[in-house]
Amino acid sequence: DVVMQGLSKSFGSNTVLKALDLRVPSRQFVTLLGPSGCGKTTLLRLIAGLEKATAGEIRFGDRRVDTLPPGDRNIAMVFQSYALYPTMDVARNIGYGLEVRRTPKAEKQEKVGAVAKVLEILHLLGRKPKQLSGGQRQRVALGRAMVRRPDIFLMDEPLSNLDAKLRAAMRGELRRFHLDLGTTTVYVTHDQLEAMTMSDLVVVMNEGVVQQIGTPEDVYGKPANLFVAGFIGTPP
Ligand code: ATP
Repeated sequence: DVVMQGLSKSFGSNTVLKALDLRVPSRQFVTLLGPSGCGKTTLLRLIAGLEKATAGEIRFGDRRVDTLPPGDRNIAMVFQSYALYPTMDVARNIGYGLEVRRTPKAEKQEKVGAVAKVLEILHLLGRKPKQLSGGQRQRVALGRAMVRRPDIFLMDEPLSNLDAKLRAAMRGELRRFHLDLGTTTVYVTHDQLEAMTMSDLVVVMNEGVVQQIGTPEDVYGKPANLFVAGFIGTPP
């Protein structure tokens, strides 16, 4: 499990996370929902090691991870703006994380090929990012994260730049990747339909604390408090 305990984060006088407690069970697909500015992205960045907590800790199993350098965490994060390396072709973009870890070439090629097959982008391996559609680029970004077989897969609104049709198709695919990889996924979205259809557990946050964690049915059908009741089902 990934366990956050008493996790606080301030930017100057702005306290974004307020002694947040949260347990993300292993191999579950857990989605963070909440109003803009409630701290969802900040929480992902703390797990990834891109920010340091002001107080509290993050453990993965019995290992404390918030004190490890980001490179030692085996965590992959996919952002909304999936920045690919523009001068590298798709194969090299996907394999870059292995390249910097000095993975032998044959092993790297095999892993890149396997991921590209799952993502159905084998025919695109020789192209540059600018020769791809938005959806194809997003798959490359996912491939780059998947190839490392991360223990924890963090995604921050990865579908928000895609059109409605592709977004609907990708929902099922992301869920499949999650199961194929056997990872623990923490997913951030504004889209309640996405949250309800993809997640094992939904976490509703507000003002830097967890208001409720439960199955989609629980959060939707048995909101824990007035905030959750008001937030769920309200169009953004
Ligand atoms: P959204 O749904 O709009 O993406 P969010 O829930 O992901 O919002 P965060 O991005 O975590 O919210 O931001 C929470 C608060 O932290 C905001 O008030 C934001 O202005 C502030 N914040 C985030 N990063 C920084 C930073 N690097 N420096 C200063 N303030 C920051």
